Amino acid sequence: MAANGSASAPARGEVLPAADAIKFLEQYPRGDGLSLSELMDSQAHGGLTYNDFLMLPGHIDFPASEVSLQTRVTRNIVLNAPFLSSPMDTVTEDRMAIALACHGGLGIIHHNCSAEEQAAMVRKVKKYENGFITDPVCLGPNGVVGDVLEIKDRMGFSGVPITDSGKIGGKLLGIVTGRDVQFRNDKTPLKDVMTPLKETVTGNADITLEQANAILRDSKKGKLPIIDDSGLLVALVARADLLKNQTYPLASKAPSSKQLYCGAAIGTRPGDRDRLKLLVEAGLDVVVLDSSQGNSVFQIEFIRWIKKTFPKLDVIAGNVVTREQAAQLIAAGADGLRIGMGSGSICITQEVMAVGRPQGTAVNAVSEFASRFGVPTIADGGIGNIGHIAKALSLGASAVMMGGMLAGTTESPGEYYYHEGKRVKVYRGMGSIEAMEHTQTSGKGGKSGLAANNAATARYFSEADTVKVAQGVSGDVQDKGSVNKFVPYLYTGLQHSLQDSGVRSVKDLQEGCRSGKVRFELRTASAQLEGGVHGLNSYTKRLFA
Ligand code: GDP
Ligand code: GDP
Ligand code: 5GP
Repeated sequence: MAANGSASAPARGEVLPAADAIKFLEQYPRGDGLSLSELMDSQAHGGLTYNDFLMLPGHIDFPASEVSLQTRVTRNIVLNAPFLSSPMDTVTEDRMAIALACHGGLGIIHHNCSAEEQAAMVRKVKKYENGFITDPVCLGPNGVVGDVLEIKDRMGFSGVPITDSGKIGGKLLGIVTGRDVQFRNDKTPLKDVMTPLKETVTGNADITLEQANAILRDSKKGKLPIIDDSGLLVALVARADLLKNQTYPLASKAPSSKQLYCGAAIGTRPGDRDRLKLLVEAGLDVVVLDSSQGNSVFQIEFIRWIKKTFPKLDVIAGNVVTREQAAQLIAAGADGLRIGMGSGSICITQEVMAVGRPQGTAVNAVSEFASRFGVPTIADGGIGNIGHIAKALSLGASAVMMGGMLAGTTESPGEYYYHEGKRVKVYRGMGSIEAMEHTQTSGKGGKSGLAANNAATARYFSEADTVKVAQGVSGDVQDKGSVNKFVPYLYTGLQHSLQDSGVRSVKDLQEGCRSGKVRFELRTASAQLEGGVHGLNSYTKRLFA
């Protein structure tokens, strides 16, 4: 009997006409390889990791550039690329979150720092790009040039509307931009250098963003203050945002504000409630409850509290690797689940705790279960190449979360240094002794001892322990250059992977896996050797150009 229940093909012998080859398959449809459920039969062959299997090729009748990588990463957030960065103090601060969101992904800012520092990073991401800026920084006519320079220093921009009250909602009197304050004495009053209202190009409060953009384009101005019929300032539009929109067409943005999406991680202790309030004030879109074992009463109560207090905030709960863990968090209200225990590259949990699950099996089991309740999943840890990303998606994850893959880029926190002749940056597990003791600082992860110390230990429920048991290591990774090149490489590579599988989108891939159309093959140890480079005297491995 054939795999899908149809009649078996006749015994070999007679040679059939070549033109009948396709008809033959239709008549005796037995898919090559294994279906997803056959592949994931852990009673037959144990738990699987990404390296234990391959997808079989499909039929290509479209270019790779047409493959859509759009994905729903939580109940309410859709990304153009299925990439998240780990909330680790050597991976994600504001710079990484901005760069990754510009290329379609989502950065999750770590919490190994004070609540104020974390909120300031979220604010920077949210301020980076805008449609209508509804809370622009303003000054009054009696402000001085030094005030603008200070804003430039602190916030990175110098286009400042001048209103009678010095605030949004005041009567617009004019605008000051970078050139107005150049070569001026710090004490010069702004009323002497501003472009006055009668010379300022403005937009009316009822215009659309398209119309505002057109005025900016035609007037060649850098900023467009938007005023109501009484001349009160209601918003600002920046020319720089038109350029950002053009440069980063895949950017992950909230449809209404055009601001980049930003995520942040927190723990589940009482103090984290105050932290979350600050993050929400800063504009946070999605919070990740950062725990190595998510199925705890602390997390369940915390999810319920968030859903009551901030009903619009999406919650990614976890980590989980079983259906039973997932069920608890889904029932409590999670909008997304993070899957992985012990699969991270810096992780020693499986070794020390003897608890965890091979990542392929975990992703399949949890994603299959969560999808029944409309909850997307994120495969966290163990991503070492593009193939692993494709496999995580094929097993049902909506996106992957990467630590080691993104560490060592220009945008990751910390400084480069040389180790055995290679240019490297520190990459450390959040359960390493170094992170728990908060030593060997990098970026903002080092400035605030106490709050930070608690964050790393709390992830592993070990804040009260007198002996700290490590669940991760500290090391270094080689320089990977900028996310601006590396993430487009991941994106394009993944498009080619889906093309090889014969599917045009992440959605098609997952439907194909569910229906049995996309097929798999297990890899023996020798098949894995064969799949790597072999038989060469020496070689260089350049991944992209
Ligand atoms: P699309 O960009 O045309 O696919 O459609 P959107 O709904 O994203 O954008 C609507 C309008 O807003 C278009 O004119 C865009 O160029 C413009 N737009 C999109 N993002 C931004 C942004 O970040 N800032 C500004 N000022 N305009 C934007
Ligand atoms: P400037 O010419 O020095 O003001 O800076 P740009 O116009 O090149 O860049 C301003 C960037 O900062 C844009 O992407 C804005 O969306 C962003 N931004 C965020 N908040 C504000 C704000 O309150 N005022 C101004 N001027 N820009 C802001
Ligand atoms: P990577 O992408 O480097 O393989 O794994 C990153 C993931 O490992 C993180 O997103 C997080 O879930 C997990 N992780 C981070 N630090 C530690 C640690 O010290 N111990 C363990 N067990 N997992 C960690």
